[in-house]
This record gives sequence, structure tokens and C-alpha cells, in this order.
Amino acid sequence: MSKRVIVVGAGLAGLTAAYELTLAGFDVQLFEARERVGGRVQTVFFGAEQHGELGAEFVDDNHTALISYATQFNLMFEPAFKFPNDLCYYIDGNFSTQKTLLSQQLAELDDVYQQLDQLLSQLADPAQTLAQWLTAHSIAPFACKVVRQQSYGMYAADPEAIGVGFFAYSGTSGDRNLRIQGGSTQLATAFADFLGDRIHLNTPVRRIGQQEQTLAVSLETVQGQVEVFTDWIVITIPWSVLRHLSIEVSLTEPQREAIAHLPYGTSVKTLLQYSNRFWQQSSFGLVVGETPYQTVWESTATQTGEAGILACTSSGTPSRNVAGHSVELAQQTVSALYPNAHKAIATATHDWSTDPWSQGSYCYFAPRDLKSWRCDLPYFAGRVIFAGEHTASVEYCGYMEGAIRSGQRAAAQISAFVIT
Ligand SMILES: Cc1cc2nc3c(=O)[nH]c(=O)nc-3n(C[C@H](O)[C@H](O)[C@H](O)COP(=O)(O)OP(=O)(O)OC[C@H]3O[C@@H](n4cnc5c(N)ncnc54)[C@H](O)[C@@H]3O)c2cc1C
Repeated sequence: MSKRVIVVGAGLAGLTAAYELTLAGFDVQLFEARERVGGRVQTVFFGAEQHGELGAEFVDDNHTALISYATQFNLMFEPAFKFPNDLCYYIDGNFSTQKTLLSQQLAELDDVYQQLDQLLSQLADPAQTLAQWLTAHSIAPFACKVVRQQSYGMYAADPEAIGVGFFAYSGTSGDRNLRIQGGSTQLATAFADFLGDRIHLNTPVRRIGQQEQTLAVSLETVQGQVEVFTDWIVITIPWSVLRHLSIEVSLTEPQREAIAHLPYGTSVKTLLQYSNRFWQQSSFGLVVGETPYQTVWESTATQTGEAGILACTSSGTPSRNVAGHSVELAQQTVSALYPNAHKAIATATHDWSTDPWSQGSYCYFAPRDLKSWRCDLPYFAGRVIFAGEHTASVEYCGYMEGAIRSGQRAAAQISAFVIT
């Protein structure tokens, strides 16, 4: 019975796969390039009292796989936003909340979301980018601007690049979202505590090859390059990174094509801690705006302390202009929204597209790619199984939920094969 499994990548996909396979009795080793687990989940602390997230922050209330593991690990959730009530807009230099939008603007938004819902109900993947679709459907200017900013804010992608079919899936996220109390990293840490010394940090995988029935993985360790052998491999690293590795196993042409070309969004996320929460005088939710950072929200709404942290994300092409001046431009964005803003007392920032181990924020799909890459693409090649958010079913791509579900699927695929 072939029971040795190597898992590559200790993000939520790899941690979930390793956890489930260990429970099922497999001999699991997990190799991670970074010095920490969690991957695109990274909580940062500002003193003892407050924290924010440089990566994933929100859990939709229909993300049941994540909620179920968190509950098993005795983690608690706290409420974040309710949609659409907690949305605010900064468009054409005007700040509005859902309550202060003009009836004309509300009607425009209703219209565009209804048209997107129709695409979703037909599971349509037209050969149009979001920008092309907005023009072709003569979407009214206010709705057009909001939807464009949502393309950046939710998918980290330019409206000129993302397929409208994929964008339409935004309608499937929950109408309420949550945060993991104490920070998202707690979930990764809970898996890691269970896995113990099966996890090897600072150990990037450089090559995956095959020698007859055995798979070989080349690792970079402090002792130099080492080759280890295994019966199964679960690869969870983003394809933006994987495409630069040497994969000497037999893949189909569509698999090679998808690994080489699946697009990834770009994002800079910046956290600004202020000595007091000057924004609380105004109604404040998740602001979607035409500013260098397209989305801004408070990360500390349920945390104690007089200080408060605003999270700002800039995505797509505008994020390339932010890179290098991220803190300065985040402060400028906050000042545009709140003229009474003062200088932040502490900051943290991360550019996920220049991070060598993610090379992007999360995947998105160009027009027609849903059809050509999703439906028929098998996420395995012999005993090599692919997992990670990018391999999840479409509605969970780009989410922690997708990573977790893909890890469960990879573990189930191996278990089913070995047991039958
Ligand atoms: C700015 C930002 C905000 C986000 N916000 C949310 C949110 O609010 N809610 C939500 O649900 N999701 C959010 N996400 C998405 C979420 O973070 C990801 O979908 C999820 O964490 C991906 O998990 P994963 O295991 O698939 O990949 P990763 O977390 O990227 O894990 C892959 C791991 O592989 C490692 N690795 C890479 N190369 C190698 C190598 N050669 N050898 C060994 N290891 C390697 C990486 O270091 C990494 O640890 C956000 C992401 C970003 C970037």
C-alpha cells in the first residue's frame, strides 16, 4: 500500500490536505518555502491589543468548510459586514453610504446586478471582458464606476482583463461576512499545531520529477539541494509560481496551458494604525472608491483600544503605481475620504505580486477561460494532485474556502485511490 505523501505549500490548501491525510493514516511530509505557515493568510499585530490582516480577512457566512474547521479548533468568529447596507462609495469625489445614495443611483445598481445575475443563472461565459460587457450593455455611468471598482476590490483584476462570466460569480458570496477572532492566521496555526514536525519551513521545492513508479521532489535546504522520494504529491502552490518550477511529470496540454497562463490579480494591502478612530463620527463600512486604493475599511471595529486600524487595498494596474509609495498613498486615500484624518502611528504593507511565493494575489479568469479550463481540467496527473484556491470550484476561487475545499478534495482523491 502506497502511503507516503509529500504536500507542497503550507497555505490553507496544503495544511488541510496534510491534516486530512494524516487523520486517514498516511505518512505525510509538508514542505514550505517561507519561514511561516499560512501563505496568503498573514495576521500582523500592532502591540498587544490590535491586529490586522495583510492577506485574507473575511469569511462569508456560506463558507461552511472553513467555519467547520474553525469550530473544531475552538476558534470564534466576529461579525464584519452586511451587504449591501455596509457598503459606501467614493465616486466622482462624493462620499455616499447605501442610505444616502440617490434613488437614480440605486436603480442603476439594481439594473446592473440583475443583468449580471442573469449571466450567472445561465452559467454564461461570454467572450467579453467586464469592461466590454459594461459598454455593450450601455450600463449607466454611476453603476459602471462602482462595478469597475468592485472588479479591483473583489477580484484584484482590471475590468479590461477579467471575464464578465467569472465576475458575475461575485453575486454568489454570502450577504454577511465574518472575521476569525484574534486573526485569520489562527486557523493556519491550529492545523500546524496538529501537524507538528511533519511541516518543514524554509524548504522550497525546486523540481518535481518521476523515476518509474516513484515521484522525486528536489528541495532547497540549508544543507543544499536534497532529493526526496514519495508515492504521492499534493502541489498547492499558486500556478503563478509553479509555472517557473521544473515539473517533469506527464501533464496534458490543457493542464500545461492552464498552469502557464492562468492570470493572477495584483494587490497591495496596507494597514494604517491611527491613535484614535476619527472616522467613527461618519457612517463607515467598506468603502469602494476611485482612489489609489480602491477599498478601505476598519479592521478593528470589534477590537478594544482607543487606536484603530484601517485596511486599504489597491489592486490591478493602479496597484503598480502604488508600489513603492504604498504607505504614503494609503494615507492620501484615507485623507480624501476623511479630511480630518491625521498621520498614522504605525503601518504595515505587503505587495503580493512581487512576493516570490505568491507572484499575485489570487487567480481570476479571462473571457472563455471558465469554459476551456474549468469544466474538464482534471486536477491530477498520475499520482500528482493539484490543489489550492485556483483549483476550487468557481464560486470559491480566490477565497480561503476554495483553498480548504481543494485540500479536502486532494486528500479524498488519494484516499479513494489507495483504499480501492
Ligand atoms: C490581499 C489579499 C486579500 C485576500 N482577502 C481574502 C478574504 O478576505 N477572504 C478570503 O476568503 N480570501 C482572501 N484572500 C485569498 C486567500 O488568501 C487565498 O485564496 C488562500 O489563502 C489561498 O490559499 P492556498 O493554500 O491556495 O495558497 P497559499 O496561501 O498561497 O499557499 C501556498 C503556499 O505555497 C508556498 N510555496 C510557494 N512556492 C513554493 C515552493 N516552491 N516550495 C514550497 N512552498 C512553496 C507559499 O509560500 C504558500 O505558503 C485574499 C488574498 C490576498 C492576497
